[in-house]
Order: sequence, then structure tokens, then C-alpha cells
Amino acid sequence: MITVIGSLNMDLVVQMDTFPKQGETIFGSAFKTAPGGKGANQAIAAARLGSEVSMIGCVGNDSFGDTLRKVLSQESIQTKAIKSTAVPTGIANILIYNQDNRIIVVPGANYELKPAQVEAAREIIQQSQMVIIQLEIPKETVAYAIKLCKEAQIPVLLNPAPAANFDVQWMEDISYITPNETECAEIFGDDFDTILKKYPNKMIITLGSEGARYFDGEYQIHVPAYMTKAVDTTGAGDTFNGALAYALVEGQSLDQALYFANIAASLSVEKFGAQAGMPTLGEVYARMA
Ligand code: ATP
Repeated sequence: MITVIGSLNMDLVVQMDTFPKQGETIFGSAFKTAPGGKGANQAIAAARLGSEVSMIGCVGNDSFGDTLRKVLSQESIQTKAIKSTAVPTGIANILIYNQDNRIIVVPGANYELKPAQVEAAREIIQQSQMVIIQLEIPKETVAYAIKLCKEAQIPVLLNPAPAANFDVQWMEDISYITPNETECAEIFGDDFDTILKKYPNKMIITLGSEGARYFDGEYQIHVPAYMTKAVDTTGAGDTFNGALAYALVEGQSLDQALYFANIAASLSVEKFGAQAGMPTLGEVYARMA
């Protein structure tokens, strides 16, 4: 089983022909809601591939919260460790005009995920083969979860996004970390060769359409992405992380697991929407064949 400790958001997406100026009211041309949040996205990515997944997180006591729970349940994700709080469900307000976007994230209930809730889910964590964590929840909760996993000897895959919430003290206790190039530069600096060498078989830098890199203790390994025509890369990183966890739990080597994760992520960029594009195991195998 994989446990994901992280965020759940409702994305509120507004399409418009121009951005409003200060004090101005305009008509938008389209509106849609889409379930998101890095935690929920990564949970769905792993579940769709066939992992048994439990999610630990917080939503508001509101209709968005109800919908997000339902979406996870429909993917067979265990939601009993998701708490409903008086603070509203996290949202991302996404304004889209031409190729440009402006995004406002209100973490809301995600910041109500406190260490005590992780402690209350200790049994779920202890039964897991891997725990996935991102940084859209309070830092103290991430620290507590990593400590608990270390005690229970459960490997942690940390996706350090947003990078500003990262604490370098966590490096010793986690098994894998998956920054993209921007996050890696922000946290560790831009000398990637040195950084990869410092954390063999742990530091995996994702490179968008170039794939991923890591250091195996002897050589630096570049695992190329599967070349495809991307229509929407939203959620590529989340698919990559969920798929990587799935493959590692299945017992694949890091090299194989990265190949698998690249293939899964390549399928996700071919469809619009973060969760909509996440592939099933059959789709990944079909592409590998
Ligand atoms: P996101 O766009 O979700 O924020 P990210 O910035 O976290 O993604 P990236 O390094 O951009 O992470 O992409 C993660 C993985 O997705 C890559 O390692 C690769 O496997 C896959 N990927 C991303 N873009 C493409 C693409 N254009 N073609 C094929 N694969 C891609």
C-alpha cells in the first residue's frame, strides 16, 4: 500500500478574452471546476496504475470537500484519514487568457493538516510500503511525518513543491526526492552534477520533456522522456511521482522505475487536465511494448 500525505484543492478555472484591470468587471468566456492539489493528484496517479492507496489530508466541510472525497473514492482510494474542517477546502483560482495565466492558491483546509492527524493515522502509515509527501501542507506536519516514517522504516518519496517549504534537514531521513530543475536550483543551487553526486540513488531531478537524471553511485544516469506531442503538461510531475512510487513498490530498480514513470507522465501530457490524463497500467504497458 502507498500512503499519500498532502493537499486536496478544487481548481476554479476561468477563461477570458482579456484580464480585468483594477476596479473593472468583465465577462469571462468559460468556467470549469477541476479537482486538484498535488497530494490528491499523486494519489490518483498511483491508484490508477493499480496501487492500493490511502490519503491523509484535510478538506473543508463544504461541497468542494465532498466532491474531492468522492473523486478519490471513485479511484478506489481510501479516504478515512481525510478530515473535514471548519476551514474551507483549498482552492486554486486560475485565470487563463491566451497562453498566459494568473493563479491564486488559497490553501484553506490543507493548512489544518497538523502532526496530530498524522499521528492518528500511524497504523495506516505503518502498513504502507511507501509514503509520498509534497509541501502544500504545514512544514511541521511534513517534519512529523518524515520522523514517523523513519521510526517505522517506511521509505519516503518527497516531491519538494513548492520549494520554499523545503527543509534540508529532511534529506537524511527520506529515500527519494524529486525536484524539477527550478525547484532543485532554488533549494540546492544550480550545480546539478555536484548535487546528484551528493545524494546517490536518492536525488532524482526531473527535466520536463528531457526525462530525469540521477547518480547511481558510479555514473550519472539520464533516463530520457518518451517523445510525444504535449497538449497540457499540468500534472506531468504528479503523474511521474505517483508512477515512480508504484513502480518502486512493485520492486522495480530505480532505473526501471524512472523509465516507467517517464512513460506514464508522457501519456498524461497528451490529454487536457491534471487528473484526466493520468494513465492506467494497461496504457503504460501498451506504450512500453
Ligand atoms: P508539472 O508540469 O506537473 O509542474 P514538473 O515541473 O513537476 O511538472 P517536469 O520535470 O516538467 O516536472 O516533468 C515531470 C516529468 O513529466 C518528466 O520527467 C517527464 O517524464 C514528463 N514530461 C514532462 N513534459 C513532457 C513532455 N513534453 N513530453 C514527454 N514527457 C514529459
